[in-house]
Amino acid sequence: MSKQILILPGDGIGPEIVDEAVKILACLRDDYGLDIDMHEALVGGAAIDATGGPLPEATLELAREADAILLGAVGGPKWEPLPYAVRPERGLLGLRGGLGLFANLRPAILYPQLAAASSLRPEIVAGLDIVIVRELTGDIYFGKPRGVHINEDGQRVGVNTMVYTEAEIRRICRVAFDIARKRNKSLCSVDKANVLESTELWREVATEVGAEYPDVALSHMYVDNCAMQLVRNPKQFDVIVTGNIFGDILSDEASMLTGSIGMLPSASLDEHGKGMYEPIHGSAPDIAGKGVANPLATILSVAMMLRYSFGDEDNARRIEQAVTRVLDRGLRTADIMSAGMRQVGTSEMGDAVLAALGQE
Ligand code: NAD
Repeated sequence: MSKQILILPGDGIGPEIVDEAVKILACLRDDYGLDIDMHEALVGGAAIDATGGPLPEATLELAREADAILLGAVGGPKWEPLPYAVRPERGLLGLRGGLGLFANLRPAILYPQLAAASSLRPEIVAGLDIVIVRELTGDIYFGKPRGVHINEDGQRVGVNTMVYTEAEIRRICRVAFDIARKRNKSLCSVDKANVLESTELWREVATEVGAEYPDVALSHMYVDNCAMQLVRNPKQFDVIVTGNIFGDILSDEASMLTGSIGMLPSASLDEHGKGMYEPIHGSAPDIAGKGVANPLATILSVAMMLRYSFGDEDNARRIEQAVTRVLDRGLRTADIMSAGMRQVGTSEMGDAVLAALGQE
């Protein structure tokens, strides 16, 4: 049966960049045997304008039925005055929670052609290729008790609780070990086991799961050291697995090593490999509607979809190689432009990737 893909363009540059990714999907469907149907729905600010809420029931229903979801981005100044509970970003949280997307995969890849875009020296980052696997539905962001209260001395006290069950740790570790197994068989689990009991448990459970994967070399690192090592010698890492808050911070740090927010895809997966795929950047209201946004992060999100939700490694590689070829030919959107390269707009970049799909 055809795989069902739900397309959620969202706001700002979302529709522009998603259009380019849809072109790629349509070409793979028509010419390379990718058996898919695509459906489109509203989310974020676009959904607020049309229906009054950021995640209409119809969208959530389609998302539940889909095998995979491609999201552009949500949000923008127009909706900032709204209360938090009905802001565009709530649509994303509703999708993650409603679909049980607990595993966030954030690759940080530095294409050699773009090494100059990093704030680190090219020899430190050229060829960088890391995947950070972040647990997405637990930890201090969800733990209880939480809130601000007045204590017996009349002082305000803020409380959040870091909490993980062993089942939550085990399932995210398995996702990470499976990915490590398909790559260089090396996994670094990041915790703060020297001071936080919940992450002492994390280390114990990661080690237990490691016994199921004797072919993968497991190491452990404290989060403060990992933050330092990522800027000192990032190429020592291949796959990193960590909890929600550490992963939030480390994945942003790792993505910035590559210098270009417009290049990086991400995936959020449930227990059965169903996923929501999206660029790591936001809706970039400052450039929306100008036709200059970089569509490559969204196009590379499609490659992740094919690899992780559909097991279609051939077409995933086809997309990634096409992107490499286009960069080799010197085509650049404004955000990755450098001297001697040719600047192109959003749709010209998408068309170039499309044309490169079939080239050897
Ligand atoms: P942003 O990622 O949208 O933009 C940051 C900077 O990077 C801007 O200068 C922008 O022009 C540039 N940029 C981003 N994507 C680009 C691309 N593909 N090509 C070229 N340049 C690109 O972050 P922000 O400005 O902090 O947030 C804008 C809006 O996006 C806010 O409403 C925020 O809440 C929302 N947001 C949404 C998501 C999401 O949908 N997953 C993620 C982050 C932020």
